Amino acid sequence: MHKIAVVGAGQMGNGIAHVFAQQGYPVNLIDVKQEALDKALATIAKNLDRQIAKGSISEADKKQTLDNISLCTEMPSACSDRDLIVEAATENIELKLKIFTQLDSFAPAGCILATNTSSISITRIAAATHRPQHVIGMHFMNPVPVMKLVEVIRGYSTTDEVTATVVELSKAIGKIPVTVNDYPGFVANKILMPMINEAIYTLYEGTAGVEEIDTIMKLGMAHPMGPLRLADFIGLDTCLSILRVLHDGFGNPKYAPCPLLVNMVTAGKLGDKKGEGFYSYADPKNPVVSATFQKN
Ligand code: NAD
Repeated sequence: MHKIAVVGAGQMGNGIAHVFAQQGYPVNLIDVKQEALDKALATIAKNLDRQIAKGSISEADKKQTLDNISLCTEMPSACSDRDLIVEAATENIELKLKIFTQLDSFAPAGCILATNTSSISITRIAAATHRPQHVIGMHFMNPVPVMKLVEVIRGYSTTDEVTATVVELSKAIGKIPVTVNDYPGFVANKILMPMINEAIYTLYEGTAGVEEIDTIMKLGMAHPMGPLRLADFIGLDTCLSILRVLHDGFGNPKYAPCPLLVNMVTAGKLGDKKGEGFYSYADPKNPVVSATFQKN
């Protein structure tokens, strides 16, 4: 049984720890903030309760899953005996390069270093290590316990063997892996983010309001969530980072982030995780259009 570490216990990290632990893998969940770890464990417990309520798992399964997770703030000891480390820290290139330099020195030889980055070059992250052949993208979708896809991204130097191991591990935790090559945004976000950016431009230009845009895309395109609601759910800071990677990587102005998105991130309106974005989440179960975007 592979031993797993997950670096970063935010909304993605807690889900990744959840799905590995539920399939019996021992998981060290690592964060720089103890409060992030405590919140992550509470979220995992709540999500397991939801699975119990649906009858898909038992109380004993919940206990076993939680017992498989160890919370850690010390990266060196938490990584020293691992076979796979999945990094899911904040979407910031400098931060990820620093983390991979550290992981390379703390993880045993042969350990696979995966990143859940939404868009940053796997090849660039790999180049920060002495083991680029063991570095790979393992892009889970949000919310991780629910979404089936794992976009597996081969960096320039990633070996077939490492890719095959990550594909098998993804299947072992009940996911459906799809392997792609390493270019900006990979596949999922190269297609999704221009749509979200276009929805923000549509609001910015006054063509329609938040609810109209989301309703049209939900009812007209059969999307489960409108693009503005989805942007809030992903995190507007994450959306902006991905658009910047696409813009820089392809040098094409079509990826330039909408100035409204830039303003909202600068103002700290990051979506669900900060209680406000295009919608207000004062009551998280009943989001309402943010006062900023309500019509007079
Ligand atoms: P988040 O802001 O919810 O969580 C990030 C966590 O990383 C925080 O708890 C923070 O304390 C921790 N962190 C920061 N520096 C660290 C360090 N040096 N060591 C350990 N932990 C550290 O972010 P998120 O939405 O979970 O995104 C994480 C990654 O997953 C990003 O690369 C993002 O692009 C990617 N991703 C996000 C989504 C999404 O829908 N949010 C989907 C797929 C992939």
